[in-house]
Order: sequence, then structure tokens, then C-alpha cells
Amino acid sequence: MFCPKCAAEYATDVKKCPECNLKLVPDPPQREQPQFVEWTCVFEHRNPGPVAMAESLLQSKNIEYVVRDQNTIDTALIAPVKLCVKPEYATRAKKLLDKL
Ligand SMILES: [Zn+2]
Repeated sequence: MFCPKCAAEYATDVKKCPECNLKLVPDPPQREQPQFVEWTCVFEHRNPGPVAMAESLLQSKNIEYVVRDQNTIDTALIAPVKLCVKPEYATRAKKLLDKL
């Protein structure tokens, strides 16, 4: 038996975690998943010039971003580069990059 809070394991005849005062469950609790950040893509361009400008704009505003670059060597000339930010920055970033 496992405590759903502290994940301590007890013998099957134990019904409660003495630490947390919680009813034990038969399965160990799931480990907390690493926080998944959903990035919002706010800019995409095929040319490195505007992409670099967009990057420096984001940097100047301290907006964290990732470059989504699905290019393989074969598609390097076709696939656009995407800049993605955290959702809370999406509106700000879009506004910022609007002029590019
Ligand atoms: Zn516990």
C-alpha cells in the first residue's frame, strides 16, 4: 500500500499513512511530470534576415523563445523557420513582430 501524498510504501495491513494521515492506495502515486511548456509560434519566415531581426527583438524584450526549425538538409530552402514563445508572451511577441 502506498501513501498518495508522500509515496511511502507500507505493508498491506496498514490503512493510513501516519505521516500524512491519509488513506493508503494500492498503487504508488504517479511521479510528477516535468512541466510541459506549450510553445506558441508567433513568427515564421523563410529568410534568415527577418528571423534574426525577430530574434533580436525578442531578446531585447527578454522574451524567452525557441526556434522551431524542422529543416533537414533536403528541405532547408523550403521550410520556414518558426519562432515560438510561451503562451503568456504570445500576444506581446506578436505585437512586437508585427512590423517585420
Ligand atoms: Zn504519507
